[in-house]
Amino acid sequence: MFEKILYPTDFSDETMKALEFVKKLKGAGAKEVVLLHVIDRRGLNDLARFSKKDLPHIMIDMEKKAKTEMNPIMKELKDVDLKVTLRVEKGGPYNEIIRVADEENVSVIVVGSHGKSNIDKMLLGSVSYKLVKSVNKPILVVKS
Ligand code: ATP
Ligand code: MN
Repeated sequence: MFEKILYPTDFSDETMKALEFVKKLKGAGAKEVVLLHVIDRRGLNDLARFSKKDLPHIMIDMEKKAKTEMNPIMKELKDVDLKVTLRVEKGGPYNEIIRVADEENVSVIVVGSHGKSNIDKMLLGSVSYKLVKSVNKPILVVKS
C-alpha cells in the first residue's frame, strides 16, 4: 500500500520533520523513496533578469547544490534499507510534484504542512494546500 513514497523537499526544517515519518513507513511496507527537489521557476525568473549569459552556470550550480543537500537525507533513508531515487526538477513545485508522482507511479506522497516560507497564520502552505485539494493519491501531511 505504501510501497513507493514520493518525498518532495525544499530543505526547510519544517519539511525535515516529515523525514521521520517517511522512515517509519518502512514498517508499513515501504521499499522505495523518490526524493524530489524542485528548483522554483519564480526564483529563476529573478535570476534571468540579472545575468542571462550566466544562467546556464547558475542552473548547474543550483542542481549541484540540491544534490549536495539531498545526500544526507538519502543516507538516512538508505540506513533504514529504503531504496532511494533522487530527482531535481525545474518549474513550479506543485506542478512538478504532481508530474513526478504520476511518472514514478508512487503509492503515497509525504509532505510538510509548511515549508521555507512558513507563514504560520495559514493552515497549510500553498504547495501542500494545492496537493491536498487535488491530488488523486494518498497524501500524508506532517504538521510542523
Ligand atoms: P508558501 O510556499 O506557500 O509560501 P510554505 O513554503 O510554508 O508556504 P509549502 O511551500 O506549501 O509551504 O511547503 C509544503 C511542503 O511542500 C514542503 O514541506 C515540501 O514537502 C513541499 N515543497 C514545497 N516547496 C518545494 C520544492 N521547491 N521542492 C520540493 N518540495 C517542495
Ligand atoms: Mn514554499
